[in-house]
Amino acid sequence: MSTNEKHEFQAEIAQLLDIVIHSLYTDKEIFVRELISNASDASEKVKFLQTSGQEVTDPDTPLSISISTDEAAKTLTFKDSGVGMTHGELIDNLGTIAHSGSKAFLEQLKARQSAGDAHLIGQFGVGFYAAFMAADKVSVTTRSATPGEKAWTWVSDGKTGYEIDEAPAETPRGTTITLHLKEEEFSKADRIKEIIRRYSNFVPFPIQLNGEEINTVQAIWTRNKSDIKEEEYTEFYEYIGHDSDAPTYRLHFNADAPLNIRALLFVPSHSLEALGMTRAKSEVHLYCRKVLIEAKAEGLFPEWLRFLRGVVDSEDLPLNISRETMQDSALMQKLNRVLTGRFIKFLDEEAKADPEKYAKFFAEHGPCLKEGVATDYEHREALAKLLRFESSFTEKGKVTSLADYVSRMPTEQTAIYYILAGSREAAEASAYYEGLKAKGFEALFLYDPRDEFVMDNLREFEGKPLQAAEKADLSLDQAFTAMTEEEAKGLAAFIKETLADRVNEVRPSKRLVGSPAVALESDKFMTSSMRRIMRAMNREGGTPFESKPDLEINPNHSMMASLEKLRQNDASLAGKIAEQVFDNARAAAGLLEDPREMLKRANELIEQLLASKN
Ligand code: ADP
Ligand code: MG
Repeated sequence: MSTNEKHEFQAEIAQLLDIVIHSLYTDKEIFVRELISNASDASEKVKFLQTSGQEVTDPDTPLSISISTDEAAKTLTFKDSGVGMTHGELIDNLGTIAHSGSKAFLEQLKARQSAGDAHLIGQFGVGFYAAFMAADKVSVTTRSATPGEKAWTWVSDGKTGYEIDEAPAETPRGTTITLHLKEEEFSKADRIKEIIRRYSNFVPFPIQLNGEEINTVQAIWTRNKSDIKEEEYTEFYEYIGHDSDAPTYRLHFNADAPLNIRALLFVPSHSLEALGMTRAKSEVHLYCRKVLIEAKAEGLFPEWLRFLRGVVDSEDLPLNISRETMQDSALMQKLNRVLTGRFIKFLDEEAKADPEKYAKFFAEHGPCLKEGVATDYEHREALAKLLRFESSFTEKGKVTSLADYVSRMPTEQTAIYYILAGSREAAEASAYYEGLKAKGFEALFLYDPRDEFVMDNLREFEGKPLQAAEKADLSLDQAFTAMTEEEAKGLAAFIKETLADRVNEVRPSKRLVGSPAVALESDKFMTSSMRRIMRAMNREGGTPFESKPDLEINPNHSMMASLEKLRQNDASLAGKIAEQVFDNARAAAGLLEDPREMLKRANELIEQLLASKN
């Protein structure tokens, strides 16, 4: 206990402290994370020295981190058996901005060997000074692992400077940091436990809090895949995903370029959104060398991948940066791009390897992928390959990819056709399907109203336009059997005259087989989803939104043949029936907004029919 040196902080440190204490960190509690991460780094360094055959002080002391709280004294203490600091290192590491400790270690390491061990080098930053967010006095007692070095105590109020004193000779290897707290909060064991569990649960050394070990689940994402047992993955998923059902997919991957990434991602077997719960939030946590940077990291994945759970660890992330800064950093965007691309590739491989399993996945999480197609221009093309739909060529409940659809297209078919319907039965019964069926063209059956948005946004696949069957320009080249072409044109003109402004155009159809007539949207830019929006907008205003469709009549249908005859004898009744045919077609197409008129007329026609029979 001889010397009592007073040191001033470097001017930059004093400034830095001011920033740290007042603005850099938004959550005070993360000082715990910073100090544990330093203790972990220091422990890694001892491990490295020992494994590379160097002599260290107290070689038999196990590597662990002990934390103790003292409510009465309002203190919080972190003790590690790591590499410690010499007198010179104390000044360099805790008194200057350069943090030459890490820098010098990196150089030493590089000079020595394996770049693989480089992960134990921390980023330069302000980590340690975070202690002053919670404490108005911090004391650091440390003994370096270098044999023969004395132990020292460094004390500071975090304002002007610090003092260094010689510490007792019996001080063991490692560092003990005591925080004299400003507030009681961080002297409570439960609070500290919660913080450690949140941020430091995967630190690779045992952490004890007042003697109890609290980090029990391992950070398996940093280990080699081949060394990890299935049960370990299961346990990890249960912990991180809060889900006791086995996940559908698991992707564990490592990359070193263009970014350092260790990721372990899971797809839950069930979608909470599909169960009608509120919109899910991504549960992928962002780590830097096993230390949590941000739970449920926003911006790490695009919105449409919000069903993912797991962790992403990147050594390229600076540990000490506020979340607000993190979210829109270029680094985050880069991570997002790499991770998303990798995950799409993974799904593509899974879909090929086991189509049935993939179909199950798609049934749960497909709506999210569809959202991706509609909103994520960058990944649209890759995502389109992952879409699955039922079609007229699949069995009920089975799905096809667009690529498979295209591979089945006959040469004369130029577009990919789809029919929006409430069910397979409705799609098959649809008048729009008749022409496609007669031609032998496949139709995708879309049951989800959102699918139309997907088709509108995607527009084409492998160069083939995606086209609603109702807008398909199909010609079946049928002969006129029930009436002549002239008569058909005459009947069409009669119906147009009757319906006047309610219809856009009436024409003989070349696409119908079993239906008497079909109503078609005449505005080629109007889609049924747009119609829904218009309708919703008009809900409160008086006049309901009515579109003015085209009507195609089937000249080979017996009903049309009879109508053609009737109009010569009883134009008034024929007109009424024409109106009814039109309304029936509109109802079938979902274009009839208000059925009152139609029902009234139907009743009149029935009455007339009954009267003629009695
Ligand atoms: P970083 O960890 O990013 O290097 P910090 O401000 O957290 O920055 O720490 C500064 C330096 O102080 C560390 O690089 C390390 O050399 C030293 N240091 C901090 N805590 C400890 C510790 N518990 N044991 C040994 N050295 C430490
Ligand atoms: Mg640090």
